[in-house]
This record gives sequence, structure tokens and C-alpha cells, in this order.
Amino acid sequence: MVQALYLHVPFCPSVCPYCDFHKMLRHEGLVARYLDRLEEEIHENAALYPGPLRTVYLGGGTPSHLRDEELTRLLGAIDAAWVRHGREETTLEADPLTFDEDRLTLFAKLGVDRLSLGLQSAQDGTLRYLGRLHDGAQGMDAVRMALRSPMRVNVDVMTSMEGQDLEQDLRTVAESGARHVSVYGLTIEANTPFGRRGYRVDEDLDAAAFELTSTVLARYGLDRYEVSNFAAPGEESRHNQAYWRGDHYLGLGPSASAYLPAHGPFGARIKQRPLKGWLAGAAPEVDVLDVDSYILERLLTGLRTREGVDIAALSARTGTTLESSAGRWLDDTTRHGLLSLAADKLTATATGLQRLDAVMRAFVGSRRLVGTTVS
Ligand code: SF4
Repeated sequence: MVQALYLHVPFCPSVCPYCDFHKMLRHEGLVARYLDRLEEEIHENAALYPGPLRTVYLGGGTPSHLRDEELTRLLGAIDAAWVRHGREETTLEADPLTFDEDRLTLFAKLGVDRLSLGLQSAQDGTLRYLGRLHDGAQGMDAVRMALRSPMRVNVDVMTSMEGQDLEQDLRTVAESGARHVSVYGLTIEANTPFGRRGYRVDEDLDAAAFELTSTVLARYGLDRYEVSNFAAPGEESRHNQAYWRGDHYLGLGPSASAYLPAHGPFGARIKQRPLKGWLAGAAPEVDVLDVDSYILERLLTGLRTREGVDIAALSARTGTTLESSAGRWLDDTTRHGLLSLAADKLTATATGLQRLDAVMRAFVGSRRLVGTTVS
């Protein structure tokens, strides 16, 4: 059953020079056409996958940049297609400058019960470097305002920037009372203004940020439950757990990704086209998973989490054991303290989590499954 929906809203108040997501500035005609097409897509998919949905996630882009009447229409279309009653979580990504108390009241009325705020930093210099429109005081005012609402709140913090006092940022956010923090290192993609200017991320800063983040946030009762996510007990994102556990989910809107029970026993990844093609109804890209790519994906996502991967369940699902297909890798990584295997749960240790890319490269290099291709 498909019980999670991701919906992509590509419009932003401004375009940040490091951003690699599918996003653009809004104009009225375009938003109206986007909403028309999205409503069609919602109804088509509700007929195929009637739910009920456990979680809905409006990401972007900046979904809170939609006007009141646009958000009302969008969330109304979701509720008309999938009954809202019984839904466990509806998250809206929001920029600090796009809401006030009245808008928060509207969000809650529309069924949003979790806000994910793109703060990135509470320091003016770091925010200027990132090209964000808000300053530190405005960002933290928005965080506190959101925390006074009945909604659960996540705060995004970015790391690995020269001149940033990361400990100060983390403490400021944790002391505000936030019970969920997502922490991402700045990455520089070649197709962004930062990439074209030749910016680089300092790898030492990045490595230091990984440890500092867990140390500081743990003091406030916020534990790393996924490589980039920290929460107080019970405050974890329910929607993202669908990705990490390998559950199926819908992805609607331009450039959205989905994982659906289609095209074979291991399902298929579906990637919608960017806005122009999506509006024109172009067919999405379809990547059918075979047993090898399924195992690889379960390890890639599951090992990012504290929960890890249930390798007995993985064997039952795939008809092959990790011991037989990648026994050497399993031995090496556990012997070197990168992974830990207990009671059929394979998890990354703190060191392994920090070196997960290398651990997974070693997996791809070592396994003996036939026909594997990894790009
Ligand atoms: S607000 Fe977010 S999605 Fe929009 S341009 Fe900035 S980083 Fe990208």
C-alpha cells in the first residue's frame, strides 16, 4: 500500500546561489497552470493509490511562498482525493519571511501539523554568504513564532561555511525549544552560481561539523536518528521514515521522485519531469529496480538511520543473503568498527556513519551479485 505523498512546489521568493533543487521565481500565470496540472495529477493518482495516506510532505522550492488561496486550493485538493481523517503527519516547508501568526493559523486549519523551517543559520554574515533574504533575528523570530503554534517544528541548519560559528547556531536553535533539527553540510554543485564561481567546501570544516553537531545537540536531548536529522524522543519525522525504511511513496509535481509498487517485484523509481515537460504531460522517467539495486538502496537508506537494516527481512524479501552476496564486505566493515551486526540488525557505528560513502563504495566494489550497475 502507498501511504506517503511528497508534493513538490518549485516556487521561491528568491533563488539562493548554492541551490541545486528544481526551483524558480513565481509569476501568476505559471502558478495557476501549475495548480491546474497538480489537481489533475492528484486525482489521477488517488484513483490508482487510494491510500489512506499516513503522511503528506509539501517540499520545494518554498511551499509557504504560495498565497493563502493557492495553499487552500492545494491542500483542499489533497483532502478531496485522500481523506484527511487518520493522517499522522502533514509537513509544510516554510521560509522564515513567508508567514506571520495569521498564516500559521491558516496552515493549521488546512491540516498542516508540522513546519520545516529553512533557517540555515542565525548569523547575519553566514546568511548573507548564502544569499538568504532573512537575517538572524528575523529567522529566529520566525522559529519562535512557529514554536508557539500547535504545530511540530523542524529547523534546518547548514554547516561547513567559513566564518560560521556552528556551535553558536546549534545552541541558538536548540535553546529556542526546537525538538527536531535537520543539519546539512553545504555542498557545491557545478551547475549553481557557487559552483561557477569555483567555491569549495573545506573538508576539515565538514568533518568537524559532523562530530560537533551530535555533541552539542545531544546536550539538549536531540539525538541523531539519521545521518542529518536530530530529534527528541517521539519527535522524529514520520514521513521521511518511509524513505529510509524502503516504503513506497507518491511523488507529485515537477521533478518529484516516487517509489511505487509497479513494474516488477522490487518496484520502480519514478522521476517527474521539470516544470515545462511536466506541465505538457511528458511521461516521467522510470527506473525499474532489480534485486541488486533493491538491496543497494535498502543499505544506502537504511544505514543512514539509527534503526539500521533488518537483514533477515531483506533476505526474506530478496531470496538472497548478504552473507552470500557480500560476505567479505560484511566481515571487513564489522571488523573495522564501521558497521555493527546484532540480532539481524545491521547499523552504522558513529565512525561508519561519518564514512558512509566509503562504506557503500566498498559494498559496490565487493559484492558478487550478478549484473550490478551503479552510477
Ligand atoms: S529557498 Fe530553498 S529551494 Fe528556494 S532557492 Fe533557496 S535553497 Fe533553493
